[in-house]
Amino acid sequence: MTTAGTVTGKSYDQVFCGLGEPLDLKRAQVEASRCFYCYDAPCIEACPTGIDIPSFIRKIGNGNVRGAALDILGSNILGGTCARACPVETLCQQACVREASEEKPVEIGLLQRYATDEFFKSGEKPFRQAKSTGKSVAVIGAGPAGLSAAHRLALLGNSVTIFEAKEKAGGLNEYGLAPYKMTDDFAQKEVAFVMSVGGIKIEHGKALGLDLKITDLTSKFDAVFLGVGLGAVNRLGIPGEAAEGVLDAAKFIEKIRQVKDLAKIPVARNVVVIGGGNTAVDIAIQMKKLGAEFVTIAYRRGVEQMGATHHEQELAQTHGVLIKTFVKPVGIVSANGKATGIELEYTALDGAGKLVGTGTKFTLPAEQIFKAIGQTLDSENLVASAPDLKFQGGKVSVNADFSTNLAKVFAGGDCTGVGEDLTVTAVQQGKLAAEAIHVKLGGSLESLPNAVLGRGN
Ligand SMILES: Cc1cc2nc3c(=O)[nH]c(=O)nc-3n(C[C@H](O)[C@H](O)[C@H](O)COP(=O)(O)OP(=O)(O)OC[C@H]3O[C@@H](n4cnc5c(N)ncnc54)[C@H](O)[C@@H]3O)c2cc1C
Ligand code: SF4
Repeated sequence: MTTAGTVTGKSYDQVFCGLGEPLDLKRAQVEASRCFYCYDAPCIEACPTGIDIPSFIRKIGNGNVRGAALDILGSNILGGTCARACPVETLCQQACVREASEEKPVEIGLLQRYATDEFFKSGEKPFRQAKSTGKSVAVIGAGPAGLSAAHRLALLGNSVTIFEAKEKAGGLNEYGLAPYKMTDDFAQKEVAFVMSVGGIKIEHGKALGLDLKITDLTSKFDAVFLGVGLGAVNRLGIPGEAAEGVLDAAKFIEKIRQVKDLAKIPVARNVVVIGGGNTAVDIAIQMKKLGAEFVTIAYRRGVEQMGATHHEQELAQTHGVLIKTFVKPVGIVSANGKATGIELEYTALDGAGKLVGTGTKFTLPAEQIFKAIGQTLDSENLVASAPDLKFQGGKVSVNADFSTNLAKVFAGGDCTGVGEDLTVTAVQQGKLAAEAIHVKLGGSLESLPNAVLGRGN
């Protein structure tokens, strides 16, 4: 095992920038001119936060970048991160009418990034907490769901206290998204923007289940929102999994995101990543960029079934990552307690369409093996704090308005079983839960500012 020798002396941004280059003014206007400004535009429907996409693109075309940014941020306060992280080819851009006629879809994500980045440069803080309702809400977790809920609650005049277990706010925006998506400390800049609304305070190092109980919070606050995400990792369940070098991809990305000197990150010559989602692609690209010589993604089904989008798969391949499909891990090979390889078995679909092992096995050398097979709810803390909280399919069970079975307690984001586990989905669920909480506490949504209600800018 070596440390990241090829990155010695380079900064985090130098190593990870260069992917997904932003647009400049000229390219943004040319791209904006490709939009048909469809009536009943399908892209709006395809965006989980319902951003009025044709409206903001038209504003970019007219040179009204501020108005474009307010269109975006009024619907999605983390529109800056979403512009970097959304799998647009399965969301808004997939619905673009140009895509349907087999042309290149309008680059909605890049245009959104252009508008929000330019707006943030102005330093303007357009959102302000409304006149106080006298109500207070506790938000658990400062990830996309928690931040979005807190912002919308504050906009509506409620006072919010966020309890966050970690040192920094942002959740996976800060600790999980691939570094190349989030250069220039963007997550923290965005948290500061969210907080600029006023009426939100964050208490760090306060974990529900360890430092806090739901019953204490429900007696102190008028409502509680749970946005705790998924803190635990699925196991491979194969012999040798405890060997040194078998690592959790999400935890390792967290280490890469937080380390001051990238040269301190251990990088193996041979890396194998187990999984087929964007976390698998992210860790594979990052290990390549950090100097690993051979990086292989091993996925049990075919490329069409991979959670990573086609664009992400292509990105991995252009970085020299080999994607091996229809293989599953069956054992870790180790020497003196350290991983030296992974045994894989070919898989195939049987007559009934079920994935089965074929019995043909082979071994790949690997001193680092990353598990990227999904996150699960760290329910231990939640159960310790709220024994009566109802779960469904291993996640917090919520009603259509994001209320749970406990009075005054709502939940949103990855910790619930609703929707895909994406930043944009968490933002939307936090926002909708906040509105439901506000209405439940006797408020009205008419007090939302014009920018949020889509009236003028
Ligand atoms: C490695 C990785 C890469 C990803 N890449 C993408 C991507 O490119 N694009 C995309 O759209 N999505 C991506 N996702 C998914 C996306 O990050 C999540 O869907 C999103 O962050 C969910 O937001 P959340 O607020 O529900 O949870 P989180 O972001 O997980 O935030 C939860 C917050 O709650 C805090 N917390 C947890 N437990 C407690 C407790 N008991 N008490 C107090 N605080 C607590 C945590 O510290 C954290 O700050 C990725 C996920 C991973 C793991
Ligand atoms: S938030 Fe994401 S899905 Fe919605 S328009 Fe922006 S990039 Fe597309």
